[in-house]
Amino acid sequence: MARMFIGGELADAVSGETYDVVNPATGEVVDSVPKGNEEDVQRAVDSAHEAFSGWADTAAEARAHLILKGIDLVMAEIDDLSVTLTKEQGKPVSESKREIEHCLHGMAFYAGLASKIRGSYVPLPNNAMYGMVMKQPVGVCGAIVPWNFPTTLMGTKIGPALAAGCTSIVKPASTTPLATVRIVELLNQAGLPKGVLNVVTGPGSVVGEELLRNPKVRRIAFTGESGTGKHVMEVAGGLMKRVTLELGGSDPMIVCEDAFMKGALTGAAVGRFYNCGQACLAVKRVFVLEGVYDEFVEGLVGKAGRLAPGNGMNPKVRMGPMHTAAQREEVESQIKDAVDRGGKVLVGGTRPEGEEYDKGHYLTPAIIVDAPMDSRIATEEVFGPALPVFKVSNFDEAIEKANSSIYGLGASIWTNDLTRARRGAERLQAGNVWVNSLHIGYDEMPFGGVKDSGIGREHGPEALEAYLEPKGVVIATG
Ligand code: NAD
Repeated sequence: MARMFIGGELADAVSGETYDVVNPATGEVVDSVPKGNEEDVQRAVDSAHEAFSGWADTAAEARAHLILKGIDLVMAEIDDLSVTLTKEQGKPVSESKREIEHCLHGMAFYAGLASKIRGSYVPLPNNAMYGMVMKQPVGVCGAIVPWNFPTTLMGTKIGPALAAGCTSIVKPASTTPLATVRIVELLNQAGLPKGVLNVVTGPGSVVGEELLRNPKVRRIAFTGESGTGKHVMEVAGGLMKRVTLELGGSDPMIVCEDAFMKGALTGAAVGRFYNCGQACLAVKRVFVLEGVYDEFVEGLVGKAGRLAPGNGMNPKVRMGPMHTAAQREEVESQIKDAVDRGGKVLVGGTRPEGEEYDKGHYLTPAIIVDAPMDSRIATEEVFGPALPVFKVSNFDEAIEKANSSIYGLGASIWTNDLTRARRGAERLQAGNVWVNSLHIGYDEMPFGGVKDSGIGREHGPEALEAYLEPKGVVIATG
């Protein structure tokens, strides 16, 4: 059985309860974990609270050194961790490995920034006084993580937290706790003082909720659905906690007549079907200018048709199953709604048949055309391998339709016309715009959304600021 990590040691739930983690590819039980409750969170929060002042006072370089040492310990176990991640999440092992590497790269980025945190000297109107701005760690932080990228999205939270001098409690999604608990244990083995980094497993409505409500937690970094995010903001707001919310998206991709077609097709196929379509920044709606619409659709249907889902443990498989039965049903109902309203499925959208698929949540990659703009597939977040493509008559129409979503996470423009690219980048309502590029998050660049896609940024030096409180100090020199 996997165990939580609280106050510097492995821990079971106070209640003694556990639950099973199930493999989405086979339906088999992978392992079990403690079913934590409020009391377990309180233990973790108390120990993080106790550890806070010592960790905040630790020299930045020493903090960075411990983070880097922990990264090495995780790296040494990356092959086993990748298999664990595949078994609990479903993605191919190669993707799991890339995910964990991304997690560690991001943490190393913040370890590097720890000693670069700067305040400032401020001249004041009265020359006998001056001001200073100190940057101090916010305090105990809750890191609430979803199931689609369990390790990377933990790293984007604990990396800056630890570098800034904050202590943390990680709450993984209930269905993907296994790689997370082991990584937290390994990071602790590097010599983090006890209580600095903890992990509590269990249901979001219990474990996550207690993190939101516990007054000793001063900051919540949340990634998940927009609906849950709004609840997080409401509860955390009542206690004046700092929050960053990385929420859902429905990223548009605009393909112009002058686009490099091979690149655009790869951008759409990889952008939509990576992680079986279960990515916040996945390409979720494509707007193609009419002159290249037929060529684009034909190319994309070919690519989708060649991508067969399978068990991620098979090294030849490039797309795993969907994470849960409920997720698959949701995407199927979004496709059905599009078809009921005049849309056509050109390829995919079916459950593959055969013994190897029967116990997993497999769905073949689907391309949908002619769906009305108010159908569910165009207005909701589609968190799976189904992509609607829309024909537009000009660039302005593409921008207008791209912006018609409640979401505003990412967007891409595929064109060789720099003027158009710049105009699009300025006008698209999104936190991130890519030009002729896959929708990818970089550790070096701020990432986050506008509108229902959230508030605040993860990644980049910008994210570190969210773990620091600027304190104005005025000094009179007499
Ligand atoms: P979710 O909102 O169901 O769960 C996210 C986390 O919140 C889980 O750990 C869950 O246990 C916890 N939680 C649930 N109820 C809670 C409560 N009442 N209080 C506190 N915590 C609670 O989301 P999900 O289904 O795990 O993730 C998929 C969603 O995440 C998609 O919408 C996706 O777009 C979004 N996402 C966004 C980003 C981004 O950077 N913007 C990245 C990845 C995923």
